[in-house]
Amino acid sequence: MLPTASRLQRAAVCPASVVLPQVASVSEASERGTSIHAFLAAVGKVGRDEALLLVPEEHRAACDAIDLEALPCSPGEFIAEVAFAFDTESGKARELGRDINRKYEVMPSEIAGTADVVGIGHDAVFVGDFKTGRGPVVAACENWQLKFLALCACRVYQMPRATVALIHIDETGEAKYDMAHLEADDLSNVANDLVLLAERVELMQSQVRAGATIDVVTGDHCRSCPAMPHCPGHMALVRRLAQKPDAVVGEIQAALTPKTAALAWERLKQVEEVVKRVRAALFAFAAQNPIQLRNGVVLGEVESSRRELDGFVARHVLKQLHGPEVADQAVEYAASQASIERALRPVAKATGKALAALKREVLDEIDDQGGVFVKVTRSVREHRAEETESTPVRESESTANAA
Ligand code: SF4
Repeated sequence: MLPTASRLQRAAVCPASVVLPQVASVSEASERGTSIHAFLAAVGKVGRDEALLLVPEEHRAACDAIDLEALPCSPGEFIAEVAFAFDTESGKARELGRDINRKYEVMPSEIAGTADVVGIGHDAVFVGDFKTGRGPVVAACENWQLKFLALCACRVYQMPRATVALIHIDETGEAKYDMAHLEADDLSNVANDLVLLAERVELMQSQVRAGATIDVVTGDHCRSCPAMPHCPGHMALVRRLAQKPDAVVGEIQAALTPKTAALAWERLKQVEEVVKRVRAALFAFAAQNPIQLRNGVVLGEVESSRRELDGFVARHVLKQLHGPEVADQAVEYAASQASIERALRPVAKATGKALAALKREVLDEIDDQGGVFVKVTRSVREHRAEETESTPVRESESTANAA
């Protein structure tokens, strides 16, 4: 298959990135971006308030902060989520649908992609792409995704030119535009570039089918490449890291001269990206298939639970047993064993009672009054094989506000 629009930029530098097997990954940032995109698409259809209700709670504040006045969202003027395909054999483009959720039904010779927003004017189209992350984005005038979408929109709606915009939405909800204009000649060049890219991808696919090793081009574009787990360039580095880590460190150190520091920096970023991706892959694997390490240690998912104190109940108990001053000292905004111990220490001193006994008395009473929660968390980490599924219960800070 040919790359989708969002992968064209990387594919143009390294066609192998769409030929090698792909491994999808979802990050917190990408989930936030997906929520914001869905919100902006919904605003034009159901209005701001209803669109906000459709946003997952964890991303609602980020959407609420967006200055909609500054964005091309008005219904009737702009169309959200328009999917297109460009046929690299015939040179024709078609609209695949609206709100089809990136479910493209295309021919092998077609490249597909979705415009976040499209406006159709008298003699030009507008294509906008919302960007919500902090990662680097290629400028609008050089952006393959936007150029592809502009070409498709112009051919579908029979317009001679296009204005494209990257609309960066920052953490505060403010929008910043990076715009470019494409005339008929620019659009023809885009079409030619897409045809050439399709030929390069096809050639590489036939090399892979013939069992040949394909060339890859590493660099900044490798960031988030879905082919990285199968990339020969990066796998060679992983193998070297596993077998001769000192040699890799030595290589980087050796490159640390004023002349080659930039190269060392690039190498380091490449190593870090590989390590990050390999770690994520290993953890995902270990969560399902515990990995036996040396000395009986296992890398795998561990369930652990801990008791949490209800700050309100703890404060109430301390107030009952030792008065409001002690209670306020122990429970500010959260309660923990440590804070109770701190508050009881002067009590123990004044009464001559054992601190441990006082503490036990308070904790038992908190427990009796329903002030202890058990919070279960799951994590992947190194642990001894003989460890039980559940680690011992520990009291910890309560999430309840006791003020
Ligand atoms: S990780 Fe980089 S070098 Fe490897 S396939 Fe992807 S883009 Fe190409």
